[in-house]
Amino acid sequence: MNKGPDDLQSEVQQANLCAGCGMCVGLCPYIKEMDEKVAIVERCGRSDGRCYRFCPRTSTDIGALDEMVFGARRGDAVLGSYRTLTAAKAANAATHSAGQYGGVVSALIIHALKKGVVEAALLTRYSERKQVLPRPTVARNRKEVLACSGSKYTAAPTLSALQDILKTGEKLAVVGRPCQVTAIRKMQLYDDRPELKNIKLVIGLFCLWALDYRRYAAHLSGQVNVSRIRKIDIPKNDDFIVYTNGGEARVPINKIKEFIRPSCQVCFDVTAELADISIGSTEWQDDWNTVLVRSEAGEKLFADALKAKAVTTKKFPGEREAILREAVGAKKRRVLKELSRRGSESAPLLYLKLDDSQRALFLEGGNK
Ligand SMILES: Cc1cc2nc3c(=O)[nH]c(=O)nc-3n(C[C@H](O)[C@H](O)[C@H](O)COP(=O)(O)OP(=O)(O)OC[C@H]3O[C@@H](n4cnc5c(N)ncnc54)[C@H](O)[C@@H]3O)c2cc1C
Repeated sequence: MNKGPDDLQSEVQQANLCAGCGMCVGLCPYIKEMDEKVAIVERCGRSDGRCYRFCPRTSTDIGALDEMVFGARRGDAVLGSYRTLTAAKAANAATHSAGQYGGVVSALIIHALKKGVVEAALLTRYSERKQVLPRPTVARNRKEVLACSGSKYTAAPTLSALQDILKTGEKLAVVGRPCQVTAIRKMQLYDDRPELKNIKLVIGLFCLWALDYRRYAAHLSGQVNVSRIRKIDIPKNDDFIVYTNGGEARVPINKIKEFIRPSCQVCFDVTAELADISIGSTEWQDDWNTVLVRSEAGEKLFADALKAKAVTTKKFPGEREAILREAVGAKKRRVLKELSRRGSESAPLLYLKLDDSQRALFLEGGNK
């Protein structure tokens, strides 16, 4: 059944399920974003729209997306398809220290640019105008990549700039949260514009939640001089620490969690399951990353970066994998419960099921 902007408005925006990924904003002149709030400002009257089809919160055929990206459906309902799970960090000291954790995202993008795998990368950096507000940025060299290092904990509608950068014809990498990766993959599945072939690399970030910019920024402005943020971190899921040039401010994590976007409560994808490479914290060593290499393109780039000594790896301990799986599985179970509480028939419910004990996750028709 075809659906369009009116359906996007009623099923996603009015239902408070917008992920703030930015995809629809870049597709349509009638959809605008301001301070991370997305709104349809005028009706276009279409009954079938790419804004609806590519949205990560509308019905999503995970099996078809798996087949497009990985050549097969997944057999792992918790982490999705992947080839390797390792711990890694950037080998270059400056890249490493600029990074949120191990700096692997920045190191891989810098490597891909250096080797000509891509010519540009769509990244996210704080705006000059409002320091806590992240904006899309196109980086074409090491300096520009490092200017984007570090996690910004709001949605950052980075994909609003995707259509424009695609028009340049440059080979492109995109770094995004799981919802943004899903939106890109839906676009690749349903759209046959030749320029989409220029997306050579999609790096996904692990993400349990993103914050509502307006509420978060208002709270933060009472706590710190937000015009001078250097880095934000959540060590051991404890305090939310904002480091500024003039000192640091600590906000209890439970206070910060009040600002989580409602849309994140129905998202079952923690590890960017459709990315070429997915990267998160390790939760046990602050200066290393967890890296899931998923696709053939991801494997090629990661192996090449390793060979060129752009990144260093070490074994991912078995007991840490068990902890990662438990954390990701727990989030999926929370989402399934939330969706059934809402009586929702949305895609994750069709795809994942809880067993009777409410513990195991099963693929529809699968055995995991
Ligand atoms: C909102 C959010 C929530 C997260 N939650 C978790 C979590 O629960 N568990 C976990 O293990 N990891 C989480 N991460 C990922 C983690 O914070 C790091 O981004 C990841 O480990 C990569 O680290 P790095 O040192 O390689 O990053 P860097 O080398 O510093 O690169 C970071 C990259 O992230 C991009 N970026 C920053 N903020 C955003 C944003 N809001 N949207 C899109 N792109 C962005 C930048 O463009 C930059 O290229 C989250 C990230 C974000 C943005």
